[in-house]
This record gives sequence, structure tokens and C-alpha cells, in this order.
Amino acid sequence: MRVILEDGTTEEYADEPFAEGGQGKLYFSLDKRHVIKLYGERDRARLLALQKIIGEFNITRQDPSAAPLFAWINGIVRQPSLGVRMDNVNCEVPHKDLTWWFSANALKRLPEDMRGNWFDRTYIAREMARIAWKLHGNGLCHSDFSGNNFLANVARRRVVLIDLDSLVVPDVLPPTIIGTADYMAPEIVSALMRGQRDIRPSIQTDLHSLAVLIYQLLLMRHPLRGPKCHDPDPERDEQLALGERALYIEDPNDRSNRPTVPFLGARLLGEEVEGLMRRAFTDGLRDPSRRPVAAAWHDALSRMADQQLPCTNPDCKGKTFILLRDHPAICPWCNTRIGYPRYIPVLRLYASSGRMGYFQQDKWRIVVWQGRTLHSWHAQSNIAEHEATRPEERAPLAEFRYDGYRGWLLHNLALDGLRVAEGNRMRRVSIGASELLREGQKWLLGADSAARMALVSFQSV
Ligand SMILES: [Zn+2]
Repeated sequence: MRVILEDGTTEEYADEPFAEGGQGKLYFSLDKRHVIKLYGERDRARLLALQKIIGEFNITRQDPSAAPLFAWINGIVRQPSLGVRMDNVNCEVPHKDLTWWFSANALKRLPEDMRGNWFDRTYIAREMARIAWKLHGNGLCHSDFSGNNFLANVARRRVVLIDLDSLVVPDVLPPTIIGTADYMAPEIVSALMRGQRDIRPSIQTDLHSLAVLIYQLLLMRHPLRGPKCHDPDPERDEQLALGERALYIEDPNDRSNRPTVPFLGARLLGEEVEGLMRRAFTDGLRDPSRRPVAAAWHDALSRMADQQLPCTNPDCKGKTFILLRDHPAICPWCNTRIGYPRYIPVLRLYASSGRMGYFQQDKWRIVVWQGRTLHSWHAQSNIAEHEATRPEERAPLAEFRYDGYRGWLLHNLALDGLRVAEGNRMRRVSIGASELLREGQKWLLGADSAARMALVSFQSV
């Protein structure tokens, strides 16, 4: 079929749709590089909304580095009917709905080269938080974050948000859809149940969906679906469980929705991410303003990545796990215990307070492992990881190494002004030199006033 875009160009598309949704039919271009969605109806309000999405609210135009994260609309179709054109997400790397990674059964049926491991999942979760952050930071809300609208290839560490033709801009683009049941914020489910029509998805309702998706991706379980029965009628029970009476399966004060068998809970994600989950699914259920914002998820998930240890079992499906404070190094995915080395250093980072020699504790905790590296965002409290985009800004500054005779060493690759204080002595560790890590040491990760301090302690495994 011949398609005419708003700017007058023509393109050839398949005659038969490859998918059909409530909002329209999807067709591939003959070269498979593009996808169009045809709505089948003329709708002036929709056309105006689409022009805004492709124009003034187009994040991918303002920030090209974010473009791979979105299947943004890149053309408006005028003939044969109103529609939108996007790049085909599967053109170079095959993607599948994120829901494939939400249960062990589905995962088994995925091609092995797409599955990835748990470390890859944590990366995808961070990218999803970045996607939400980009949207919300520009005043946009997606209104339908769900396992079907994030397409991923976890092994290749790719995730893309689709269905961007229904974006909501508060007071400019009104909501056209209200979301997908499992991910709908409780206030929307309750309003629907009461038959209210004036329900408004918002950035805050997106944040609920995001928290549910991250929980599902990392723990393969829905955070509100537990054994508790709210009503004998299954439909009402479902509405109450996701709406008015929503109850976190890990609620610290009300254990009535807790799975009856032992399960892998948010504790395994480390204190900071566990804390965000608790906030999202306790206070945040009733009070949308209490929900963690996307940037908070992104930063906490970045810091979580610095606490992972590789599992030593070659058949382990998880491959990495978080070394929890004061817990033995046992992989929760396969129960293998890491027995060597017997002690692992943990660094607590302290931010500079602006005054030389005065520091305050950060949330950052780095679990040392062979080959783990320190970067500018660890060393300097005024640099955020996502801001370091150029290769020279991302280069490692120091590396941890294990030497069977001497123990754990920090090797200075490129960190100017690295010093270590032990007792009353302060030593300089010049570039190219290594120094043994010891309990109680304080490392100064640079000479200027933004440099962080790291306190070393050892955890027995
Ligand atoms: Zn394991």
C-alpha cells in the first residue's frame, strides 16, 4: 500500500497489518525499517496532539543520546488514513515484550541468546528509570507503562519504550488511555471501580507503574499479588487487591498478604533499593506524592550495581547477586556460597561537605571485587554517572585487585591526588602505584574540595 506522510513524501507498506490493537492497526514498511500505526479515523484533536509530540515535546530531538530509548514518532501519516510512523525496533536487534522476563516459565521459552542474567536485568531496570526520568523531566507522562510497552533484549542490554502516540502533557495533551490493570495506580483502579470518569493518569501514576515493573523485572513477582483474598467474587477481589485495599506482599506492618512459602524479596536488592520499594508500596500506595521519583530509582539502581558479586557456580542462572551488609556471601539464585577470599573489603563513600577535611556519609557502598573500578562519579561528589557521557569521562580511575599473597589492593590508574590515611599517617598513592586495603583506612579520592572520602571495612564471607 502507498502511504503519504504529512510532509508529502510517499512510502510503500505491506497491505496486511502484522498486529492490531484497540487504537489502530500496525504495518511494516516493505524494507522493514519502519512501522506505521493507522487509526482508521480522522480525528482533529488527535492530529494536533501528534504534531505536538513530534514537534515541541520531542525529547529525542532535544537529546539525541536518549533516542535509542524511545520508539518516538518520526512521521505523521495522512493517507490512506491518519496514522504515525516509527522506526522498527526489531530492525537490528530482536526485542520482546518485557513480560517475558517476569516469570521463570516464560523465560525458559525465550531464545537463550536474549535472556541475559540478573546483572543485565539490573541494567535494564536502570535504563527504564532513565526513560521515565527523561519523560517526566520534560513534563510528559506516558500513561501506560506496562510489560507490553517496554520492549527488551536483556542479553544485549537494550530496552525501548513504545506506544508514544498517547503521551500526556498535563493541561496540553489530555489522557486517551488509562493504563493496564497490573500497573495501574491504586487511585485509578479505585476510581474506575466507583464508575468515576474523570480519572487522570499523571507523572505520579506513571511512578507507580515504574515501581511495579522494576520489582517484577528484578524479583519475578508482582509486589501486590499475594495470598490475601479481599472478596469472594474474583473480579471484585482483583479490583480491591490492585486498588482500594492494595497491600504490599512485603509490608513490614501487615503480613497478611505475604506469600506463605519462602520467597526472594526486596531485601536482596540492598538497603537503598529495598527502601524505595517499601516507600512505593506502603506510603506511596495511598499518597502518590510519596512515590519515589524516576531519578531516585535511577541513582539507587546505579549504586546497587556497585554491590554485586559474581556467583562462582558456572551454571547459576543469576550470575551475580548483591552482597548484603552483615550477611554471608551466598548467592540467592542458586545457594552457592563464595568461600574465597575469606574477607571482602567494603567501601563506604563520604561526600565532601564543601569544606576541606569535612565529610558526610553518602548512600554509596562499594563491594570490592577483582577488576571492579572506580570512576569520576565515585571520586567526585559533583559528578553524576549519567552526566559522564564522553569516553574520557567514563574511563576507570582506579581498580581493585586481589593478590593471593598480599590481599586486596587498590591500583591507581589515573586518579590525581589519591591519598590514604591510616592512624595518624597520610600517604600519597601515585598513578601507577598500588596499595593494600586495610580495615579502618580512609582513602581520599582526589585533592580538590569535591573529592570523596572512602572508609574501608572488611566483611567476612
Ligand atoms: Zn548463583
